[in-house]
Amino acid sequence: MIELKNVSKWYGPVQVLTDCSTTIHKGEVVVVCGPSGSGKSTLIKTINALEPFQKGEIYVDGVPVHDPKTDLPRLRSRVGMVFQHFELFPHLSVTDNLTLAQVKVLGRSPDEALKRGLQMLERVGLGAHKDKFPGQLSGGQQQRVAIARALSMDPIVMLFDEPTSALDPEMVGEVLDVMVGLAREGMTMMVVTHEMGFARKVSSRVIFMDVGGRILEDCSRDEFFDHPEARQPRTKEFLDKIL
Ligand code: ATP
Ligand code: MG
Repeated sequence: MIELKNVSKWYGPVQVLTDCSTTIHKGEVVVVCGPSGSGKSTLIKTINALEPFQKGEIYVDGVPVHDPKTDLPRLRSRVGMVFQHFELFPHLSVTDNLTLAQVKVLGRSPDEALKRGLQMLERVGLGAHKDKFPGQLSGGQQQRVAIARALSMDPIVMLFDEPTSALDPEMVGEVLDVMVGLAREGMTMMVVTHEMGFARKVSSRVIFMDVGGRILEDCSRDEFFDHPEARQPRTKEFLDKIL
């Protein structure tokens, strides 16, 4: 489904991704964790070509992201992305946020887009809020709308970059619940998060990155959490701090 082969990236002389290789199969939920600056955001943004990279190959459902001939808008329309800061359009209603890209990018009719958008809004438990504006919603609600908006595009994979880290603690649960639901329904997901409860509950694999953008661990959830003796010292140190 997603294949990264020896992906490397530099900002000037500074290497921020070093030979990153991994494969994410259909239906897998892969949690990416690691210290600040280790390249987690950069890594997941390379997958939908929001970050260019200088070396290596990435395939999304067989489409070569590294190939200059690839139709990037089309690729991005199939890869759902949810960021830390809910990036809803503040001047558009919830409904318009949900339908805009479906109409503009996928060419759906406004009626079709509305139907799909409202289905997804129901799915995240916010059907009653369709006519509000983002500023009238709580942070947790805005993040759930952002998830519904991404889902309305019928993505083949969902990428999340610390989707709960900007939320007040009491709103984290409602967003994680939506993500747990998606995971259980078989959505392919790559999730940058330090919510280890989420990782334990639904991840299939955990990737741990270290400074310099190196993938230090890429193992099953059970190996990651239940066999600390088999982990790298750097990983153990990190887990000791956050668990
Ligand atoms: P955090 O946990 O703080 O979100 P991260 O693991 O997501 O960190 P990235 O944001 O991917 O890390 O950054 C990886 C490295 O790339 C960092 O050293 C960062 O300083 C550097 N970096 C990111 N963006 C730029 C940029 N536009 N120019 C130069 N360096 C950058
Ligand atoms: Mg980041």
